Amino acid sequence: MNETGHLIHKYLRSSKKFPHIWCAGCGIGIFMQALLRVIDQLGYSKDDIVLVSGIGCSGRLPVYVDFNTLHTTHGRALTFATGIKLAKPRLKVITVMGDGDAVAIGGNHLIHTARRNVEIASFVINNHVYGMTGGQCSPTTPYRARTTSSPYGNLEPDFDICRLTEAAGAAFIARSTVYHTHLLDQLIGKALKKKGFAMVEVVSQCVTYSGHWLGLRSPVEMMNWQRDNAIPVEKARGLGETELKGKIVTGVLVDREIPTYHEEYKKLLSVKV
Ligand code: SF4
Repeated sequence: MNETGHLIHKYLRSSKKFPHIWCAGCGIGIFMQALLRVIDQLGYSKDDIVLVSGIGCSGRLPVYVDFNTLHTTHGRALTFATGIKLAKPRLKVITVMGDGDAVAIGGNHLIHTARRNVEIASFVINNHVYGMTGGQCSPTTPYRARTTSSPYGNLEPDFDICRLTEAAGAAFIARSTVYHTHLLDQLIGKALKKKGFAMVEVVSQCVTYSGHWLGLRSPVEMMNWQRDNAIPVEKARGLGETELKGKIVTGVLVDREIPTYHEEYKKLLSVKV
């Protein structure tokens, strides 16, 4: 059996939950395969993983895999994940969110989970729109982009998810695209092993709704756009704001050792009052 067949039979709820809902060419499936590949390589037991999501196309991911899974309410993946981690610290808790889920309705939870440094590996699949509800503007939709809710162009500046979580205090922050699968595997592995809150932004394609503002009409064109506009962080450090405009800076952006919420909690328990 080849590697893909091995992953399908070992991890997917293929007889119960398929066919999946994702459009052909969507990047979420590429991310899912990368996540399963890395989990398999790292040797986690399926019972040790808890995979939590909110709502949206990426929110469907835990439905399809055979871990402990929770498909929660919109924007609340990190709140459920925090509760699980506090109750069962030995478990490897992972969240998967879309851009709307993570930085619109769930933005408050993202910054406070980062600030608390709860040990959760979180992955934000950023396809720059609300895909499931019809391609409306999200907080990461580029300025002036035309979407179904901004037919004359988006008036709002877009969030940089990595800068946001860096300012909030996350221990580990990284970015890849779904085109760069080797890099994606490496970053997923680092995030899973990180002591503290880890956030990886995964730039992806919504082939059905995003890409129109760039004139991109197919999954291949959209992935080529990721390839052509990505720039490794080591190279980006020598460039100015103007040169980096529109570029996707990839790699490990932040990796710092700071006390986790659990470490602080243990200290508190040891204080005699
Ligand atoms: Fe993927 Fe967009 Fe289809 Fe949702 S609507 S499954 S994000 S391509």
